[in-house]
Amino acid sequence: MKLDILAIGAHPDDVELSCSGTIAKEIANGKKVGIIDLTRGELGTRGTPEIRDQEAANAAKILGVSVRENLGFKDGFFVNDKAHQLEIIKMIRKYRPKIVLCNAITDRHIDHGKGSKLTSDACFLSGLRRIETTINGIDQEAWRPKNVYHYIQWQPITPDFVVDISGFMDKKVESVLAYSSQFFDPNSNEPKTPITSSNFLDSVTYRAADLGRLIGVDHAEGFTVERYVAVDSISDLI
Ligand SMILES: [Zn+2]
Repeated sequence: MKLDILAIGAHPDDVELSCSGTIAKEIANGKKVGIIDLTRGELGTRGTPEIRDQEAANAAKILGVSVRENLGFKDGFFVNDKAHQLEIIKMIRKYRPKIVLCNAITDRHIDHGKGSKLTSDACFLSGLRRIETTINGIDQEAWRPKNVYHYIQWQPITPDFVVDISGFMDKKVESVLAYSSQFFDPNSNEPKTPITSSNFLDSVTYRAADLGRLIGVDHAEGFTVERYVAVDSISDLI
């Protein structure tokens, strides 16, 4: 199966919090999108890996993504080395996306910055044909995504470009709320964390509204780039 866009996150819920509005909009426009979670988020203060697997599957269904896989890397302790790069290269070559979305370049959670660089490095290496990979015993061909964009999650990073997600905010919030073990729940007896306050959930909506305000629409999501983004015509910019 070939995908148009592959969104990769260190933990289940990174993609939903950061760029699910963009994903929902692309899917509505007929694009095929997949999600790869690097870890099962097993070190999360709340919930269990099994609960988070189910929540991730539910969120994928809400967004309508074509595929969601989990690479089972060690939450908190995965590193950017050959073994981890090869696992991501296999996914890139399997799905051959034109665009890869990945973690924020730097963030509060150390896995986000690590996941960002690891994914970006794997996207580059995936294009080198002398790096040989096989999946289910079949040799894979080299494939380099044309664009790698970093989404924005916890830290207020200034975006290089923003995507109008007006009309898709409800879908974004619904996909985030699929992770009921992780976020604000007045009836939960589990420990409080930085992301379990109602303030945190409000901040997700507020950021989208604020980015939207700055470009004159209802809601938007921001991304940073590694290389200049280009348009055919200056008139293509809205
Ligand atoms: Zn995370």
